[in-house]
Amino acid sequence: MKIICIGRNYTDHINELANERPTEPVVFIKPDSAVLPKEQDFYIPEFSNDLHYEVEVLVKIKKVGKHIEAKFAPSYYDEIGLGIDFTARDLQATLKGKGLPWEKAKGFDGSAIIGNWLDKNQFKDLNDLDFSLTKNDEIVQKGNTNLMLWKIDELIAHVSTYFMLKKGDILFTGTPAGVGKVEPNDYLAGELQGHKLFSVKIK
Ligand code: ZN
Repeated sequence: MKIICIGRNYTDHINELANERPTEPVVFIKPDSAVLPKEQDFYIPEFSNDLHYEVEVLVKIKKVGKHIEAKFAPSYYDEIGLGIDFTARDLQATLKGKGLPWEKAKGFDGSAIIGNWLDKNQFKDLNDLDFSLTKNDEIVQKGNTNLMLWKIDELIAHVSTYFMLKKGDILFTGTPAGVGKVEPNDYLAGELQGHKLFSVKIK
């Protein structure tokens, strides 16, 4: 199982990090060891002093495919979810500055929170899903999938040009504005269209 992540897919988040607007999706991979087991606390790694949450809508791939056209992409997933792409922002900035890959800053152990899954068919329009993240019961990130630069099916088409998708792979579709730092004892929780899909304690 692999985790395919999209960066810079929401204009407001591109602006808050003063990044360049991409001309095609920014893609990176987290290894399967990045998944934080359910019900476990998240421990801030010792190599970061600026560990950020990024709430993201997730898609679980249900069958093998490559070179998938966007119009056929819906037949490759049934489940939609919500998670966090934890990012060591200070380390990422150092790596970006040197033109090096981001994996150490984004693919470390426990860096992927994967919440409960929902049947996509309960939603009228996957391109109009509200989601949010609370930190200590206050909303810190709010988004809607209609604000994605590339929508779910376009992302599947793009990433499957480079990576064969396999059953169980998970797509992280990018984060909206509001990313920020976590501290020990913080409590994060994520909601998608009114469904609470995960919570995690920070240590
Ligand atoms: Zn992200």
